[in-house]
Amino acid sequence: MSNLFYQTKSPRPMLDRAEGIYMWDSTGKRYIDGSSGAMVSNIGHSNPAVLAAMRAQMDRSTFGYRLHFQTESSERLAAKTAALAPEGLNRVFFVSGGSEAVESTLKMARQYTLTHGDPQRFKVISRYPGYHGCTLGALAITGYAPMTAPFDPMMQRMPKIPAPRAYLDGLDADDPATGGHYADMLEAKILEEGPETVLAFIVEPVGGASTGALVPPAGYMQRVREICTQYGVLLIHDEVMTGGGRTGRFFGAEHWDVSPDLISISKGFGGGYVPLGAMIARDDIVEAVIGSGGFIHGFTYAGNPLACAAGCAVLDQIAEHDLIGNAARMGDRLRDRLRGLMQRYPLIGDVRGKGLLMAFELMADRHTKAPLPTELNAHARLVDIAYENGLIIYSRRTRGGTSGDHFLVCPPMIVDEAQLDDLTERLDRSLASYMAEIPQFSGA
Ligand code: PMP
Repeated sequence: MSNLFYQTKSPRPMLDRAEGIYMWDSTGKRYIDGSSGAMVSNIGHSNPAVLAAMRAQMDRSTFGYRLHFQTESSERLAAKTAALAPEGLNRVFFVSGGSEAVESTLKMARQYTLTHGDPQRFKVISRYPGYHGCTLGALAITGYAPMTAPFDPMMQRMPKIPAPRAYLDGLDADDPATGGHYADMLEAKILEEGPETVLAFIVEPVGGASTGALVPPAGYMQRVREICTQYGVLLIHDEVMTGGGRTGRFFGAEHWDVSPDLISISKGFGGGYVPLGAMIARDDIVEAVIGSGGFIHGFTYAGNPLACAAGCAVLDQIAEHDLIGNAARMGDRLRDRLRGLMQRYPLIGDVRGKGLLMAFELMADRHTKAPLPTELNAHARLVDIAYENGLIIYSRRTRGGTSGDHFLVCPPMIVDEAQLDDLTERLDRSLASYMAEIPQFSGA
């Protein structure tokens, strides 16, 4: 336990092995990985083709420092990634995780603005709730007080606008006026801060851990793009969780056909095989920064041959097995299943998401949207019960008066119908046990 840095009432089992959508602990108990870890293991565990590609690379070299050597696998992965990225974004800067990818976008944006004589632009507007990583730069743009508060004095906290949680505000998410309403908050914030001081706006195309798979209302993403362009503000899409196909498109923002200036990607990019991430940037931004002397940034392990070889194999598996199409199809089925549970369990107040980035939120009252009492610790308790039932799901409580206990149900993109039904049945049993514990819902 010497590597445990937090208090826990329910210690987790010891992992023995994992394959496909399943994980086994050291007692032999099997679990469905219903959240792909933290939405990471998108192509499932122990994929033989990825393991073979990693072994082949290991036999040649595992590390070549990026300033000493170019490597074949990093060149290949950069080309594959650029081919998937929106037009005009062909420059790929490798890192080893999501926070590093986000930090890279912030620093690239800042250096770019310096190249055209705009040094007063430094503010990065973001949303609350929102999560962009745990390093100090990423925390400064993170809207999640439990993780940011202790470090406030150490960083330059950046301006925030509310995430477009139409379901809590009683607005119709399908009405473009709703998207406009929330996007206008960005314009108002830019004007309040002074447009000449605003460097960038960062947004998760589909919300992740902090909002629980929040899908933006109609028109929101497009209007945000227009506003950023109008005020010369760079648009960063944080696709750390959405990138790689989980939402039913390779990049989450493809659902709205909008193109950002900078993208961060990680989790499903390395698929849990290796620590891997990237910043993907507009060509002219990178050329300007190189022209001004180069990007003053970089991590030692970035772009190492082993990570990039695994990344190539992960992308190949996604394409060969049409896992993005499967995520879209299975996502629809999962949504139906969760909506079915919502009909039977009144404590489910909302079901939302895209593809296999799906979530449900527990509430005391789905009409008033009142959260469950904090003391219930629903986010932790239901997860523990699900463990007992051989199911792993991912939960967060981000209420603080505004959002409740939400649970991400995000199995690997290889999941099939029978496995989804099994997952839903385990969740059903877990919800039944949990509901029986709460007097308000058990009728006790
Ligand atoms: N951005 C988003 C949208 C994320 O979901 C996460 C991880 N939950 C991060 C950034 C940070 O990634 P990492 O934990 O790999 O540093």
